[in-house]
Amino acid sequence: MQYNIEDFIVHKLKTIIEFNENTPIPLHEPLLGKLEKKYVLKCLDSKFISSVGKYVNQFEEQLKNYTGSKYVVAVMNGTVALQVSIKLVGVKPNDEVLLSPITFVATANAISHCGATPHFVDVNEKNLGLDPYILDDYLKEISITKNKLTFNRFTGNMISAIIPTHVFGHSAEIDKLCEVSKKYNIPLIEDAAEALGSFYKKKHLGTYGELGILSFNGNKIISTGGGGAILTKNRKLAERARSLTTTSKINHKWDYFHKEVAWNYRMPNINAAIGCAQLDKLELILNKKRELSEKYNKAFDDLNSIYMFQEPKNAKSNFWLNALVLQKNDFKLRNKILSKTHNNGFMCRPVWILLNKLPMYTKCPKSNLKTSKNLEGRIICLPSSPNIKLI
Ligand SMILES: *Cc1c(COP(=O)(O)O)cnc(C)c1O
Repeated sequence: MQYNIEDFIVHKLKTIIEFNENTPIPLHEPLLGKLEKKYVLKCLDSKFISSVGKYVNQFEEQLKNYTGSKYVVAVMNGTVALQVSIKLVGVKPNDEVLLSPITFVATANAISHCGATPHFVDVNEKNLGLDPYILDDYLKEISITKNKLTFNRFTGNMISAIIPTHVFGHSAEIDKLCEVSKKYNIPLIEDAAEALGSFYKKKHLGTYGELGILSFNGNKIISTGGGGAILTKNRKLAERARSLTTTSKINHKWDYFHKEVAWNYRMPNINAAIGCAQLDKLELILNKKRELSEKYNKAFDDLNSIYMFQEPKNAKSNFWLNALVLQKNDFKLRNKILSKTHNNGFMCRPVWILLNKLPMYTKCPKSNLKTSKNLEGRIICLPSSPNIKLI
């Protein structure tokens, strides 16, 4: 029997996922239940539904214990967590910040919101993250050091942060990236928005850099509705993060004294209530995701033209999104597969359009983006919710 690849994929999905013609299978939805309801009702009854309350503190404690991060500051979403972190490491207007073009637009937007310019560097095919060896070679070529600071020799601008993303919950080669960060004295912030529950060499992602951020948006591994967190081992940075996200107000019984221009970005207690319930079942969610990933691996292991993206070396992934990869860059085939899967009720998606192609970022500086360009037409993310019913 001869199948088209797109028919074959739909057929395989139907052999794995319990499926009813009338309800499409979303790409990723949160696993919510009685516990979330219970905590939200308790929160409502307490009347502390805004940015003060026991759940925000409890959520931060639980995150600290789980990730091993010395300090955790809960905020309204992952984007503002990035924005505050970028400000905290000292990025100034007109500076350049290095990132890969394969990430969610929020990474670049947060840089822009600080008045800095995103500067794109290529990724590694094995983990989809910023490639430390390419980054090192590229910096050798384009940078110049003055007073131990690194500048772009062509634009004259200071290069003041590196923000690698752990794509789909898979670890970038983060220890090597940290070495490059040290070598050039450029602070590193990890965009671990998709990586709660993911580790590299047994250390939780987001805890390698100067700062790391997590997101708890509705499509992430756990959700608080909207939410994010800043992770750091540096006490001063943590204190400043807490201050900058709470209008920089000095604690006082009645006086409103604010030290500097700051934000109102603290996570509300009602969102944290959902988060506490979600963290209580994180292990369950991760187990379900690993099980689904193993099913996908078995189903797609006998094809020549396509393979499942594999957990990188030395990493433990949360398998936030499972990805099929075409051997060859082929937008036409990719789109055929996406259209077929969508028509059959499976809400698959491609990797993001490379950020350097978006209208606001076309003029940004960039390295040769060979691997990113090659990957763009090859990736199909499969439905990955923890509540998918397996057959
Ligand atoms: C989701 C996400 C963000 C932003 O998080 P929000 O909570 O949606 O603001 C940033 N970076 C990456 C890689 C993401 O996936």
